[in-house]
Amino acid sequence: MNTFLPFSKPTIDESTIAAVGDVLRSGWITSGPKVAEFEKQLSAYFGGRPVRTFNSGTCTMEIALRIAGIGAGDEVITTSISWVATANVILEVGATPVFADIDPVTRNIDLDKVEAAITPKTRAIIPVYLAGKPVDMDRLYAIAAKHKLRVIEDAAQAMGSSWNGKPIGSFGDFVSFSFQANKNITTSEGGCLVMNNEEEAKLAEKFRLQGVTRSGWDGIEVDVLGGKYNMTDIAAAIGLGQFAKLAEITAHRRKLAQHYFATFGADFEAQTGAQLPPQDFENTNWHLFQLVLPDSITRAEFMEKMKAHDIGIGYHYAPIHLFKLYRALGFKEGMFPVSEHVGRQIVSLPMFYAMNEADVERSVAAVKEVLLPR
Ligand SMILES: *Cc1c(COP(=O)(O)O)cnc(C)c1O
Repeated sequence: MNTFLPFSKPTIDESTIAAVGDVLRSGWITSGPKVAEFEKQLSAYFGGRPVRTFNSGTCTMEIALRIAGIGAGDEVITTSISWVATANVILEVGATPVFADIDPVTRNIDLDKVEAAITPKTRAIIPVYLAGKPVDMDRLYAIAAKHKLRVIEDAAQAMGSSWNGKPIGSFGDFVSFSFQANKNITTSEGGCLVMNNEEEAKLAEKFRLQGVTRSGWDGIEVDVLGGKYNMTDIAAAIGLGQFAKLAEITAHRRKLAQHYFATFGADFEAQTGAQLPPQDFENTNWHLFQLVLPDSITRAEFMEKMKAHDIGIGYHYAPIHLFKLYRALGFKEGMFPVSEHVGRQIVSLPMFYAMNEADVERSVAAVKEVLLPR
């Protein structure tokens, strides 16, 4: 009997659990010294750039848009193959989402399509690094510079990823990360935003807590409309324990990904019509290991058959532009054909830190059972 292999699972070590217990006993359980320490360590990792933590990797992007002054009348270009948060934040600030289709190989936003979508109203680009694989960062920032656009990187999945040896987040404009439970490192829920200067960081602090600025013993002022987005010390204690293992986690995921390719073998795509991800062991942190299924099987059928083999399958993502909320804005089928095809057939195979090579072999054996004619 096999035990069920989920597609993702967090690993929290005993010392992290003990650190959370210490916070709970300390008498200070909201934002405090642990948050300050987590931000300090993150900032060091991101080459000294200012970093602030939040209670999600969604509000980080909304706050970046607000700091950039983006709102009604402005267009923001993004991808349809992401968690819906990526486009929702554009609507949240009153701006207009503009989708650009994806590249069929990387499944990330196609930068040629981004350039084609730029209008005089375009103010920003929100690229997503699906599965932790960055886009061509040199090209992205060349486009942004040429058209004077802000970039809010949705690097929710890209903690530990890099570009030419530099960590994602250590360069660029706004870079947003998520520490949601399934991400490579977690705080249970949470996120952080890397910014360009202290002025932006001060504004981020205001947006994160009701727009409040304090001074002296009892001075309080409110000059912008903020929300309630602060991270707790309970979450930050989890984050500190996880962050200490980032390099180890990333290395292990790369090893698992390599084992996936080796176990699938060179003929797998030709034999099944399924499409493997690009083999990138330099830049991507392998947040996900995703297959695009052949059209001969529906995703639901594949998921059901994998479940019968005790293998959990994730779905990342349904095309955002085809959700009712977005259809009501005028988006419809046929507008972004690559996104629509990938969105119909993409699946995420098990990939998490506590997995071993035997788990990869089990996962691949089940995929082959389901996809190969017998
Ligand atoms: C997880 C994720 C988000 C949202 O992060 P939360 O912390 O859940 O708010 C946004 N975009 C992408 C691509 C994600 O994977």
